Amino acid sequence: MALAAHKAAPLKASLKDCIDCDDPIPEARRLAATGCARCAECQELSEKMGARYAG
Ligand SMILES: [Zn+2]
Repeated sequence: MALAAHKAAPLKASLKDCIDCDDPIPEARRLAATGCARCAECQELSEKMGARYAG
């Protein structure tokens, strides 16, 4: 089945540290928001500023 190959594909990993403030991103958040590059604080700020960020 071709589906199995897709399932095994690794997800985009989350960063360990926020790209904006360099604070460590809590593991719970990294797991919840796969591929996130910002801590919750900076993510919220980015969204408020109208920037589009997935994750
Ligand atoms: Zn941050």
